[in-house]
Order: sequence, then structure tokens, then C-alpha cells
Amino acid sequence: MRLLLLSTPVGPLGSGLGGGVELTLHNIAQELHQRGHDLQIVAPQGSKETLPLVEIAGNPQITAQTLKRDAPVSLPTNAVLANMWEYARQVERDYDLLVNFAYDWLPFYLTPFFDRPIAHLVSMGSLSQAMDQAIEQVAVRFPGTIGVHSQAQAATFSFAERCRCLGNGLDLSRYQFQLVPGESLAWVGRIAPEKGIEDAIAASQQTEIPLKVMGAMPDPDYWQQVCQIHPNAPVRYEGFLPTQQLQQVLGQCRGLLMTPRWVEAFGNVAIEALACGVPVIAYRRGGPAEIVQDGKTGWLVEPDLVEGLVQAIAHLDQIDRHACRQQAEAQYSMAAMGDRVAAWFDDILRNADH
Ligand code: UDP
Repeated sequence: MRLLLLSTPVGPLGSGLGGGVELTLHNIAQELHQRGHDLQIVAPQGSKETLPLVEIAGNPQITAQTLKRDAPVSLPTNAVLANMWEYARQVERDYDLLVNFAYDWLPFYLTPFFDRPIAHLVSMGSLSQAMDQAIEQVAVRFPGTIGVHSQAQAATFSFAERCRCLGNGLDLSRYQFQLVPGESLAWVGRIAPEKGIEDAIAASQQTEIPLKVMGAMPDPDYWQQVCQIHPNAPVRYEGFLPTQQLQQVLGQCRGLLMTPRWVEAFGNVAIEALACGVPVIAYRRGGPAEIVQDGKTGWLVEPDLVEGLVQAIAHLDQIDRHACRQQAEAQYSMAAMGDRVAAWFDDILRNADH
């Protein structure tokens, strides 16, 4: 296959502003490249990527999760999103399939205007009325072209049965299994309200167990605010770390806390933790609830209750870290993900021929 992969327009690859999409795009590209497919990535200027990359200039999109449900669709002047899709229009005939990783209205709206089929990998659950409508129109008109990461994510849309669930995967060779942890807990992700970090900080305060925080910080004021709620919690911000360092620090932790307020579409950080042998304590909602095997590779607790986190932390020692790594190997390897994604693309191309 000749594939054109179009990234999210909210920030350059490697900035962390795109959240899990950045790693997901890289891993899918890496695996398909390895399998002998030709591909090109299109991403905002300043992106860091070792695979073939076209960088496009322009202003970033505002992230959908910061907007209201009924917000109108908007684009900044000289929008990088528009510029990326203008590029795609110019070169589409050199490719068999375009793959959209952006959670933005424009690529869905443009789909019928393109000659080549477009696979849309939707990275978040329902957040906006305009997006729901745009995605649904594509789902109806181009059956099979909407991919999602979890059943829970699909269930946030009225057209759940039209979504193809792909899970996700990792290059497990980049994550080292660490049998014996240190004393800290970990919290990993974008430091943003939908991620609920304040609950992890509260649990750290109550248990007096240090919490290492890793992730992009789009809004330092927000971080200051949540730290002020529990000023004595033993919390340390480690920065936004590249995968190599992230897995090292994460692997030394006793457990990963996942405290999302929203329906997390998947939660790459859950499988990254498992790959290092780190049990995951997560609120029982969204993607993490489909990933974590309760009592085997972590604990699922009642959403939004710090007490549940605290109790689960007390039971972390009951989880066998080998079982965590084994789950990652069985379900979330590059090969397993590559098979699911390649089969999806094959089906789209077969349908497009008719
Ligand atoms: N991440 C990272 N360095 C960090 C913290 C996080 O590279 O210090 C990456 C992590 O590998 C993951 C992403 O940030 O791929 C967060 O994705 P996730 O799916 O958990 O949540 P999202 O941000 O997409 O809502």
C-alpha cells in the first residue's frame, strides 16, 4: 500500500500537545513501514519523526476538549489543518489510501471531495455536536472507514456500531520490564482538566507515597492551581519525557494512577505501564476499564473517588508484575496492532474498488 498519514494539527509531533495520537501515529507508521508499505507522514512544522515526513507551516487548531459541545467549527488564519489537507489534495493520486489522525471537522467534511479513500482514526469520544455530525455522515456514506480505540469510546457516539475498534499497540522492545519497583507511584499524561490529576495528588497526600508526574503541560497555571489544593503532597514533576526516559522512570514505579474525568478513548499510558511491568489503578470508565484486568494487572475503582484509589494502592503488592508485561505482549504488541490496522485498511481498499 502507498499511504499518506495526516497527523493532528494541534501541535508538532514530539511536542506532546497531540497526546496519545503522536505515539499512535508513529507506531502505526513504523509497523506498516516495516511490513514493506510505502508511506509519508504529513504533520505541522517542527515535528520530530524518523520516518518520511512532510512538514507543513501554519497555525495550530484549538484542541476540541477545551471547547463547549455546541461550539461552532473554527479555523485560525493560515490554519495548518487547512494547509495539510490542501497538500493532501495535491498529492492524493500518488497514494492508495489517506489516513486521518485529526479529531477535527475539516477532514471529515472534505472526505467526499477526495478521489482516494480516507481512513479516519478517531482519537477521542464524543465532544462536540458538529464533530458528531461530521463523523456520522462519513460513517454512513463510507462504511467501515471510521476507526476507534475502544468500545467505550465508540459508545459515546450514536453510530457506535459503525465504528471499527482497533485497540492500540506499542514497540515493546522500547519498554524494559522492571520486576522490582522503587517506592513511588506514577501519573502520566497531558496535565489538563479532563485528566483529573488532582485526584492522584490527593491519593498521594493521603498515602504519603511519592507521586512522579510526567507529561506535557499546556497550561502551567492549571498545574499551579492543582498543586495548591494539596500543598504538602509528595509530588514531583519530572517533565515531558521522551519514550526512552519515560519508560525508565515509569518502570521504577509501584503503580500507575489513571484518574480521567472523561471517557478516555484508550489511554496509551496504561499499556506503556503494563509493558514495563507496572500495575495500573484506573477509574472504571473508558478505555482503561477495557485494558486493565481487575485484580490481575491492576485495579479498577469507582470513578472520581479518591478513597478507591487509596484502597487499591494498599493492594498493589497483590499484582504480579510479570502478568502485566505478559498482557502487553499478548494484546498490545506492534504485530497485534499492525494486523488489526492492516486488515482495516485492506477492507477499506476492497470496498472502495466496488
Ligand atoms: N507521554 C510522553 N512523555 C511523557 C508523558 C506522556 O511521551 O512524559 C505520551 C505517552 O507516551 C502517551 C501520550 O503522551 O502516548 C498520552 O496519551 P494518552 O493516550 O494516555 O492520553 P491523551 O493525551 O491522548 O488523552
